[in-house]
Amino acid sequence: MNIIDTHAHLDHIENLNQALKNADQEGVESIITVSTDVASCRKNLDIKRGAKKPNIYLAMGMHPSDADLDDLDACVELIRNERSELTAIGEIGLDFWYKWVRKDQEKKNAQRKVFRALLELAQELDLPPVIHTRGTWRECFETVKEMGIKQAEFHWYSGPLDVLKNILDAGHYISASPSIAYSPESREAVGYAPIDRVMIETDSPVFYRMGGQEDGEGFLAEPKDIFRTLRAYCALKDVQEAQALEVFNRNAREFFHLD
Ligand SMILES: [Zn+2]
Repeated sequence: MNIIDTHAHLDHIENLNQALKNADQEGVESIITVSTDVASCRKNLDIKRGAKKPNIYLAMGMHPSDADLDDLDACVELIRNERSELTAIGEIGLDFWYKWVRKDQEKKNAQRKVFRALLELAQELDLPPVIHTRGTWRECFETVKEMGIKQAEFHWYSGPLDVLKNILDAGHYISASPSIAYSPESREAVGYAPIDRVMIETDSPVFYRMGGQEDGEGFLAEPKDIFRTLRAYCALKDVQEAQALEVFNRNAREFFHLD
């Protein structure tokens, strides 16, 4: 059963060789590795070039939590230079989750500038954008709409349903992470979206606290845990794994233009 992890940070995984081996053995066919800053873009490029199995597809971008206007030009230049290696622009977006960011206008404006610049680049280079929207669901959607982005992925969507409805009506995708096993917000959003607008991912190496509580049990995700996302989805929606997987693979191939 071939499966695609549509969102992993391979450059952040400590024992990457082992994780790739595990993924291959479990039947992970492809992984899309997403980048968070210029150094991360370069590292993921090397990983893509060096890996044999699973297939590695590459997304370059600047994560909102790493938004740095001083590095924006270098990031844009790198993306232009490596266009032929790229499958997507990401991870980009906005994150005003923490109070210290919410109170810092300068920081928020830097995030907005980086986000818009990289969305514009995605449009120009005809690459699908992978968008981080934590605590900024409405603004991210409005920005995408205002800029006339045809199709985007709202990665790990766990925001309000009225924004989700607008996202789906506009033809975009969301993705589900292993958090759909326990997070009420993730379960509500992914439960609401039709399967043909959902992709699955691990966001490796995120640590998932399965109970949701600070001291609860959990696991450090690697790409093979994409099967956890698949199983949790099928339990949530009461669908068959093989059928769901077929749709998820089709969605990923279409959105990311995979071969
Ligand atoms: Zn991520």
